[in-house]
Amino acid sequence: MHGAQLIEGVRVTGFEMKEGRIAAVETSAGRIGCETVVNCGGQWARQIGAQAGVSVPLQPVKHQYIVTEPVPGLAADAPTLRDPDRRTYFKEEVGGLVMGGYEPDPQPWHTGLPGGDVPDEWEFRLFDDDFDHFEQHLEQAIARVPALTQVGVRQMIHGPESFTPDGNFILGKAPECVNMFVGAGFNAFGIASGGGAGWALAEWVARGEAPLDLWAVDIRRFAGVHRNRPRVEARTLEACAKHYTIAWPHDEPVSGRPCLTSPLYDRLKARRAVFGSKLGWERPNWFAPEGRRRATSLPWAGKTGSARWARSTGRCARRWACSISPHSPNSSCAGRARRRRWSASAPTGWRGNRGG
Ligand SMILES: Cc1cc2nc3c(=O)[nH]c(=O)nc-3n(C[C@H](O)[C@H](O)[C@H](O)COP(=O)(O)OP(=O)(O)OC[C@H]3O[C@@H](n4cnc5c(N)ncnc54)[C@H](O)[C@@H]3O)c2cc1C
Repeated sequence: MHGAQLIEGVRVTGFEMKEGRIAAVETSAGRIGCETVVNCGGQWARQIGAQAGVSVPLQPVKHQYIVTEPVPGLAADAPTLRDPDRRTYFKEEVGGLVMGGYEPDPQPWHTGLPGGDVPDEWEFRLFDDDFDHFEQHLEQAIARVPALTQVGVRQMIHGPESFTPDGNFILGKAPECVNMFVGAGFNAFGIASGGGAGWALAEWVARGEAPLDLWAVDIRRFAGVHRNRPRVEARTLEACAKHYTIAWPHDEPVSGRPCLTSPLYDRLKARRAVFGSKLGWERPNWFAPEGRRRATSLPWAGKTGSARWARSTGRCARRWACSISPHSPNSSCAGRARRRRWSASAPTGWRGNRGG
């Protein structure tokens, strides 16, 4: 333990802040002065972080699986099985099967407390079984493992878990407070990833920097827009529903949009822009030619990549005009006739461009 002391049954009630740092943690057992705080509060991490001004964008979502009676002939070392097409997973447990899934209509947990806070006393508690909602997984699972029709369900486990807007967990040093680290939002793979995440976090705290490139899970990937709770919830449910879907290149989320728009938004929309979503900002991904459907989902998803629109955008920029919005990497093309007018009225950062 290297001198560390574990104290159970103690609740963090607040933080004593001094010049933007946490000087001490206030707990149900008294004040603890500290150099560094590591917030691994699970689905409570959001409300714990908020007490130090730290945004931990996560949403408790209901997740359930069943454990069956023993399945005759099932090997004790049967491999874990995932069937993404049927959105289900299976693993052996005491002779039977654990079976769960990720449904397209996940259910958020609305606690009823102010701000959506999770009750303090919810630790180790479960919801009532919800077979009506789970039935969709049963149908799919039986099609893959017909032996399930021969055995009974011994138990259903139905609990809340913290999910995040992009389906990745939240690790690292909080940008709002120099001495709070966060390790939370594990999207129902916290047991599987706990060892590695814990190691990375410990190294991060000790060294002052991440031991490897952890940008995909780094808490700094979030922005002010992730303090918007309804949007975080909507985006989290969407990510959760996509847990087993194919991750097409350039796939665009559809929830919580439009959120942030530039002054050019309406004009670009009128020019048939099809927008993507970057850190809450709507930005044109491509411009649909007349007669082509203006779909948010990319017509080439999974087929030819973005080369086609990138080529035509580049051609437009060379021949006509290109606007670059300063708030997001956002470039778009305008016809020659519009170039001068836009130039006069555009916000700082707009550049008419020809030949480069
Ligand atoms: C039905 C279900 C199935 C799952 N299946 C899997 C699976 O197969 N594989 C897998 O890897 N993961 C699975 N998970 C997810 C996994 O259980 C979680 O990701 C993991 O437990 C999260 O660990 P944690 O340490 O981040 O949070 P937690 O285990 O929730 O720990 C947070 C702790 O913070 C404490 N706390 C809260 N508020 C305070 C406070 N104010 N002061 C002090 N302490 C506080 C809580 O009491 C709690 O002990 C599943 C989850 C569910 C619900």
